[in-house]
Amino acid sequence: MRLTTVRVNGGTSAGRVDASRIELLPFADVGALLESGTEWRKTAEQPGASAIDIETADFAPLILRPEKIFCVGANYRGHLDEIGLPEPEYPSIFAKFSRALIGANDPIELPANSDSVDWEVELGVVIGRVARHVTEPEALDAVAGYTIINDVSMRDWQVRTSQFLQGKTFEQTSPIGPYLVTPDEIDHAQRLEMTCSVDGHTMQRACTEDMLFSVAHIVSYLSSIITLVPGDVIATGTPAGVGAFHRPPRYLTAGQVLSTAIEGLGDQTNRCVAP
Ligand code: ZN
Repeated sequence: MRLTTVRVNGGTSAGRVDASRIELLPFADVGALLESGTEWRKTAEQPGASAIDIETADFAPLILRPEKIFCVGANYRGHLDEIGLPEPEYPSIFAKFSRALIGANDPIELPANSDSVDWEVELGVVIGRVARHVTEPEALDAVAGYTIINDVSMRDWQVRTSQFLQGKTFEQTSPIGPYLVTPDEIDHAQRLEMTCSVDGHTMQRACTEDMLFSVAHIVSYLSSIITLVPGDVIATGTPAGVGAFHRPPRYLTAGQVLSTAIEGLGDQTNRCVAP
């Protein structure tokens, strides 16, 4: 099943993708659907009150206001190689706030106070049921499905201090969506091709199997810290090819188009705009 959140009639609506149509469901977004109870899959399978053509869809952030957005840093072997770091013992965890999120095809607002805005294609995990102290084998039961996140990062702010957060949560910078794809369609997303390009030039091309800490490990690990709830989002890290490690470094400028795709999950197209 494929779920989405679209802008309609001055608001937003959750929807279920049926081939070329999106059946509109009576929830403001996929987050509200997931919060509606453990039977959310059955609820999502009901016929929509109306439908729109997928070609005309205006995608909102897949989850409008997740209670939590966790990000995992340094989680791909190829990315560790380009940074020059050894494999870490524990996952590196930081956060992002919901105001940083934009829809899959929305413009990215380049902040006036940063000149090193970088790209990071990432597999996004969306939580579908409450999880606290779950083991690795239990962890995948808590996953509602998968999506695409570009963890767009202001490198100058990211490295101001030892804490990444200030470079990771600028307003209106991180596309999430367009779809939540349930695990029955993609078998927990552990072997998917992922790409990120700028103006058609490929910058990142990798496979999710290069991930160091698996989705199950990350969900279990986070659930040992705090309760995960439906609608929580986890960005699971980026592979090699970010702009900061090009020689010389390459960063996004106004007018450029960032394209992000993961096999089976769709794609994002985001124009970079001046503030
Ligand atoms: Zn990242």
